[in-house]
Formats: sequence, C-alpha cells, structure tokens
Amino acid sequence: MQATVYLKPKRDKSLRARHPWLFSGGIARVDGSPALGETVAVLSSKGDFLGYGAWSPESQIRVRMWTHRKETIDKAFFRQRLQAAIQARDALGITKNNTAYRIIAAESDHFPGVVLDRYGDYLVAQFLSTGAEFWKTELVELFAEMLPCKGIYDRSDVEVRKKEGLPLATGVLHGEHPPEKLEIIEAGRKYWVDVINGHKTGFYLDQRDNRSLLKQYCQDKTVLNCFSYTGGFSIAALQGGAKQVINIDASQSALDLSAEAVRLNGLDANKVEHINGDVFQLLRRYRDEGKRFDIIVLDPPKFAENRKQIKKAARGYKDINLLAFKLLKPNGLLFTFSCSGLMEASLFQKIVADAALDANCRDAKIIKKMDQASDHPTALPFPEAYYLKGLLCQI
Ligand code: SAH
Repeated sequence: MQATVYLKPKRDKSLRARHPWLFSGGIARVDGSPALGETVAVLSSKGDFLGYGAWSPESQIRVRMWTHRKETIDKAFFRQRLQAAIQARDALGITKNNTAYRIIAAESDHFPGVVLDRYGDYLVAQFLSTGAEFWKTELVELFAEMLPCKGIYDRSDVEVRKKEGLPLATGVLHGEHPPEKLEIIEAGRKYWVDVINGHKTGFYLDQRDNRSLLKQYCQDKTVLNCFSYTGGFSIAALQGGAKQVINIDASQSALDLSAEAVRLNGLDANKVEHINGDVFQLLRRYRDEGKRFDIIVLDPPKFAENRKQIKKAARGYKDINLLAFKLLKPNGLLFTFSCSGLMEASLFQKIVADAALDANCRDAKIIKKMDQASDHPTALPFPEAYYLKGLLCQI
C-alpha cells in the first residue's frame, strides 16, 4: 500500500505553486511506513490531492515531489521526462554546438536529485536524493536506451547524499569504464575532462557562455585567470587573441589538463603560464610587485555551503575583488563570479561595489551581468536552482 503524507493546515501553498520540496515542518502525519525513496501521495490537511513525491525520512526536505498531478510514477513516467529534457536542449541548439552539456538539471527538469551530463561518448550521472537512488536502476536503463553512449559513470560522491542517509557512490553504471581523460568540444573550444576524479561531474559546463563572452574582449590583451581549473576561460582567451594568459589554481592535476588543452587546441604554449598557488596570496604578491593586467577572471569555488558561512564568504569575495580591481589597467575588465546559491545576486553586487570603492576604482561600472548556461535552467517555481552570478565590470 502506498503511504500518504498529510500536511498541516495552511502548509499547502508552496506545493500548489509547484515548488518541488516539502519540508518536515509542514507534515502533520504519515499513514503507512514508506521505505527510503519510495513514492508517497501528498494530501493537504483537508484531504486535497497535491501530488506524488519521494520519501526522505532523514532529510529536512522530507518529500521531493515527482509530480503535482495524478499520474503513475514508473519507468514510462521517467521516459517522458527524459524525452522532454533532451528535446529542450536540442531546441536550444546546445547539442549541436557542443559535445558536452547537462541533459538533466535536477529539479529544473522535474527530476529532483538527478543530474546527467554528457561528455562526448560518455554520460556521467549523480543521484543526490533518496528518490533518485530508489529509481536508479530504471533511470540508468532509460539513459542507456535513449542516449547513445559507450558508458555511463556514477559520480554520486557528493556530500548532500549524507543528508539523505545515502552513502557516497562512484563507478561504472553501464557499458565501458571512461578513459582517464575525455576530449570535449564546447563552442569550438577543446578541453580535456577527467570525469573520474575531476570536480562535480568533471567540468564546469555552467560557464560555457561566459567563456565565449570573454573571448570577444581578448585581442592583444593580458589575462589573469584566477581559479582556472582545467583552463575553461584560458582557452577562450587564447582563441580570442590574448597575448598572455596566467592561470592560477591550487590543483596540479587541473593545471596539467589545462596545459594539455593548450596543445590540443593548437594554441601557442609560450603565451600561457600555469601557476600552482593560492589566489589570495598571489593577488597580494602581484599588487606588491606592481603587476597590471587588461583582464582578470575570478571564478572561485563555492565560498558559502550554508547560511552560517555567508558572512565569511562575503569577506572572501570582497578580498579577491578588491585586489583584482587594484591590478587592472585603465579600461581593464573584471569577470567576477559567485557560484554560491546562498549568496544573493544583490548582495554579491554590493560586495563587488564595496571592493571597487575600497580599491579606489570610483568609476568602475557593470557592463554586463552573467549567469549559468541554458542547459542549467531555473524552473520558475524553483528559484533555488539559480546559483551562478557573474558581473563584468570595467574600470
Ligand atoms: N574557472 C574554472 C572553474 C573554477 S572551479 C572553469 O572555468 O572551469 C574553482 C577552482 O578553484 C578549482 O579548480 C580549485 O582547485 C581552485 N581553488 C580553490 N581554492 C583555491 C585557492 N585558494 N587558490 C587557488 N585555487 C583555488
């Protein structure tokens, strides 16, 4: 028998607005004893049907909604959802111009807890919720059936799984084991991706459009690419005609892939430097040495993992942005990002404004706002999916 979750009075508003999460505090009682990830029916306090979702007894997000309609949750249901996600990417032209892209962006593609990325011939998946884990076998079957590939690899080694009471998991789910590094093409740029050990599923696909934007401004410019990872922005800068690119990252394996990507694209390795170091320290050293750049990219890791860390994150953003403003030549450009979903766009802008002021860049202005690429959409009822914010500033 399917279990039924009854809400407390007046706690049905967000589900009626099609938000996909039901928090534990909104639940009055549960009829039945659902297993981890099993499908439950959700009813309002008055007994109105609100949808079906996956039961997650250990998480504050107690139910993640699969649907707000009366329909059976089975393999056929997920087949339709996957079809819709694929068609949406096709319609945007993403699948034509890139060999790597996000096919399923979790909640925003109505797949709470499921992420699926393509890297050339391989698919990389993440199952981040109990519901995703519950349907894993069927989902992997569907991926293999509907998306031509040599293999599917699991990168469910993400901390959020612990909140769901799930262990971390990696490994081959279908077909062949992916090679140590995979070649991808993004908007005419080639990269090496390590889907086994790399960050997230291997590459920061969300920055695709912003790399293309950077490329437009690089002719004969000097570029400082901070937090460069595997060279996402630096290949774009070099293709755009940059005369010198300095990459800084704390990961040697990422820097190695970046250096190899320079060769892969047939670009001039003499124009590129790779420095294994701490951005906070190196920016200070460049300031003390009087170094200046035409363009600086700041794409740091997530500084705030939870609300308690926002203040500390704000100090981190202020610090690096202030230093970057000081290192820019007149009319120089700063591409500055925050990928912390908890850092609101308005606060981030304020921090960057404060940094400019303190750096004595009184005329600094925003010439463009940037965000995550279109294969990382934000479902309107789920603003939480919006996380990557960028400001392109000119001094
Ligand atoms: N811009 C990259 C993605 C950056 S991800 C792209 O387009 O693909 C963040 C990177 O910051 C990671 O590669 C991580 O190794 C690096 N990192 C984190 N803290 C750092 C620090 N203090 N100094 C230098 N690099 C750091």
